[in-house]
Order: sequence, then C-alpha cells, then structure tokens
Amino acid sequence: MNPTPAFTSKDTVSHYIHGERTEGKGARRADVFNPSSGQVARQVVLGGTEDVAEAVAAAKKAFAAWADTPPIRRARVMHRFLALMNEHRNTLAAIITAEHGKVFTDAAGEVERGIDIIEFACGIPQLLKGDYTDQVSTGIDNWTLRQPLGVVAGITPFNFPCMVPCWMFPVAIAAGNTFILKPSERDPSAALFMADLLKQAGLPDGVFNVVQGDKVAVDALIEHPDVKAISFVGSTPIAHYIHERGSHFGKRVQALGGAKNHMIVMPDADIERTVDALVGAAYGSAGERCMAISVAVLVGDVADRIIPLVAERARSLKIRDGMDLEAEMGPIVTRQALERIEGYIGIGAEEGASLVVDGRGHQVEGREQGFFTGGTLFDHVTPEMRIYKEEIFGPVLACVRVKDFAEAVELVNAHEFGNGVSCFTSDGNVAREFTRRIEVGMVGVNVPIPVPMAWHGFGGWKKSLFGDMHAYGEEGVRFYTRQKSVMQRWPQSIAKGAEFVMPTAK
Ligand code: NAD
Repeated sequence: MNPTPAFTSKDTVSHYIHGERTEGKGARRADVFNPSSGQVARQVVLGGTEDVAEAVAAAKKAFAAWADTPPIRRARVMHRFLALMNEHRNTLAAIITAEHGKVFTDAAGEVERGIDIIEFACGIPQLLKGDYTDQVSTGIDNWTLRQPLGVVAGITPFNFPCMVPCWMFPVAIAAGNTFILKPSERDPSAALFMADLLKQAGLPDGVFNVVQGDKVAVDALIEHPDVKAISFVGSTPIAHYIHERGSHFGKRVQALGGAKNHMIVMPDADIERTVDALVGAAYGSAGERCMAISVAVLVGDVADRIIPLVAERARSLKIRDGMDLEAEMGPIVTRQALERIEGYIGIGAEEGASLVVDGRGHQVEGREQGFFTGGTLFDHVTPEMRIYKEEIFGPVLACVRVKDFAEAVELVNAHEFGNGVSCFTSDGNVAREFTRRIEVGMVGVNVPIPVPMAWHGFGGWKKSLFGDMHAYGEEGVRFYTRQKSVMQRWPQSIAKGAEFVMPTAK
C-alpha cells in the first residue's frame, strides 16, 4: 500500500505570474490526462503572447532588486526552498505519477535528483567568487566578476517535470536572474507546486514565474527582447529550432535534444549484473528517459548468453498503475505516444529485425483504458533500420550484434546522437579505451545511466545538444552569468600626461 495519496485535483492548471496564480488572457486550454486511467484529469491553460509579455514584465521588474540582493541572502532562500522540497517530496512525486505515469518510486528518485541541484545552488556565494590580480601594472589591479543576465527562460519536456526544471531555475535564480518556466503541457502541475514552495521560502514575487502553454508561448518567449537567455530540453528537431531562432534574436541558448543511448556489453561482463542494469535502463520509466538505454551492442558470443535472460525479464515486468509501490513500469504519457511506440515495433518487424518480445497491446487489469504497452525486445537489429536510427522514446530495446570492441565503438561513434553511453566489462584497459575513444557526452563504465551529479553538469554531444554549455554544475553558473573584468587605479598612481600607445605593464 502506498501511504501517499494520489493527486486528484480537478482544478485548471494556471500560470503563475508575480506570485499569483492566473488563468491569463486567452481562452485556449488543453486536456491533462492521467495516463494510468486514460481519462482526462484536469485542464491546463495555454498561454499566448500577452501572458508571456505579462510574465516577462513581472520578471523584469523584480530583476534589479533581486540581482542586488547579496548572494548569501539569495542562497538562504534556496536553503529554505531545499527544506520545503524535502518536506513535500512525496506529494510532488504523486503529482508527477498522476500526470506523467511513471512509477511513484521513480518519481521520488526524480525529485531527489532535482533536490541535488537545489543543494548545489545553495553554494552560490562560493560559485560566484571572482578572480583578482593585484598589481597587473604599477598601482593597477584587475579582477573579474560574474553578473546575472536578467530575465531568463526555461522550456522543459514532459519526461522530468521536476528534475529538468531544477536543472535550470535554482542555478539561474541563485545567480541573481529572474526566471520564466514554460513546462510541458502534458504534466504542468509540478511546476506550480514548486512555485508555491518558492513563495513559502521567501522568494520575492516576480523572481520565478510559470507560463503554461505550447509553441505559441515558446515562440513569444524566443521573440521577446527582454528575455536574455533560453534553456531548452526536449526533442532534437525542437532543440535545433529553439537554438536557431533564439540565436537569431541575439539570445544565449542551450538546447538539449534527443538521444539513442547504447550499452556495449563485452564478453567478459558479469552477466547477471549486466542483465539487471540493462532491464532497468531500458524499461525503467517505460523508456521515457533521455538517458534510457535503447540499444544493446552485444560483442562476440555474449548475445546468445544475454538475450534469453533479458527476454524473460521483459516478459515478466510488473506493469501497473504508477501509484502501486510494487510497479516496475507504468503507462506511456499519452495515447499518441503509445501509438508512435507501437508503430515503431511494427516497423522493426517489417524491417526484418527479430521480435523476441512483443509488448504491443498490453492490458492492465482495472486500467483497460490506460496508455500501457509492455516491454519489447528486438534482436538482429542493423544500423540501416529505422528502429536503430530514430529515437523511439519507449520501452523498446534493440540488440545489435558486433564481432569486437572496435566495431562496437565505431557503431556508437557513427550515430547522430551522443547523449549517454555505457560499457559493461571487467577489463580495465577496455574501460579506459572506451572512455577515451567514445564520442558521447556522458559515459558510464558498468553504470547504465550515467547522469552526472549536480556539480558536474549534464550535456550530450552531436545532435543531443545545440549550444556550448551543459546544464547545471559550473557550466550552468557560467551560462546564467556574464563575466565582467574591472581594472582600477587611484589618482596617486596615475602618471601625468596623455598616453597614445597600447597600455602595457609598467
Ligand atoms: P518536445 O520537444 O515535444 O517538447 C519539449 C518542450 O518544447 C515542451 O515544453 C513543448 O511544449 C515544447 N514544444 C513542443 N513542440 C514545440 C514546437 N513546435 N515549437 C516550440 N516548442 C515546442 O519533447 P517531449 O516530448 O516533451 O520530451 C521528450 C524528448 O525530450 C525526447 O526527445 C527526449 O530525448 C528529450 N529529452 C532530452 C533530455 C536531454 O537532457 N538531452 C532530457 C529529457 C528529455
């Protein structure tokens, strides 16, 4: 029995502007589903240009005082927010399960990874410390400091409605910016819940705002001249679009995109542990993680040993309503996503891959209208197939057989995505060669989902990230601040007479 009550509010999910919930100016609404029941649970308002303008104006007004607030006082607000997030973590996890569908224990893990970043942001006084050089020339000192950018925006995907926003706003706000979050319209309630906690923590009104919506709100944010930077996480075509459009409007942009993460399994890997890792990483959160493993690259004779074991586990996954504490996998986020995933399974079979376990049409007793599919396993997948090349974003694991380690590395490096990758082996030299040669941003050795900790920063390579800087960690602090260099001297040390040559150290 799960002691945390399910989230069942029927209230329309609103915007949050200048410390107040508001339904905004427009009449557009979207349905928010409970993916386990398949029923509409509530509606969310869809913001338009006027709502975005109102949020940007509130954030702009709040900026001067917030940027002037000493970093240690900004950090104290973060400390109080951290305590509130810890206190209410189960409620937040239940909200996520109700709208995303992922199992409660996994939602609680997502909240915890979000909390990690808030904890990192509490260290902002240390992170903003500048550099100082005494006496760069006689009587002259030079130092650098980092200052906030102004109003910044975050546009986030459905699959981590708490953790991904937390990659952005705690760092941005602690650094002295004001923030507008545009969450996914599929699971918009977590953002409002966090807005309430920020208010309780003492964050001044206007520093954190939420505009609900879709492309209309996103485009308004991109085009608004007072938005100085955009952080985006979502699918690759939209990430590319946001990066291009945002850059066109002169903004700083980091846009994290989609993925096709491989796990190389060497013949010397510990089979039992590898199967555990593969099953969890492929089917956890129904494969709706940007770091999910969707391709197993099986080297030499390991395929014949591993595939029967993975197949057995895929067939016996506990697929249930996410609030069931025994559940290993919940439903897919929407019916359209379910149809896309099951469509890919049909394509894979037509392309000639061996369909070892077919998850299509999975039914859960008492949840017949829910958006469920089972775990699917393909063998003999080849690099020309669409199920190899394209992101399916569901519980579908494609196994590719290769002859040796060199072929495995070549395969991974040739893929257009480069988010996460992993290698299971018991050979230290293979592990070392793998980490050095692989062209992927986040790498695991015997770690299936190597999501970096809060102070290391998150980001893929190739079509998994457009822009220069990773999310959170020190790169996040750099993204949300700009460097200023100051040179100073005082009248007593100023030599008399105009100088017409380039100043040099004297
Ligand atoms: P999505 O790209 O459909 O949506 C992401 C955000 O963009 C949402 O807020 C959405 O409202 C908005 N959006 C959607 N269409 C738009 C358009 N045409 N113009 C402007 N904005 C638009 O992604 P999703 O389905 O919510 O999330 C799943 C995707 O996110 C997967 O591709 C996954 O790999 C990726 N993802 C990547 C990371 C990462 O760190 N690289 C992390 C999580 C998810």
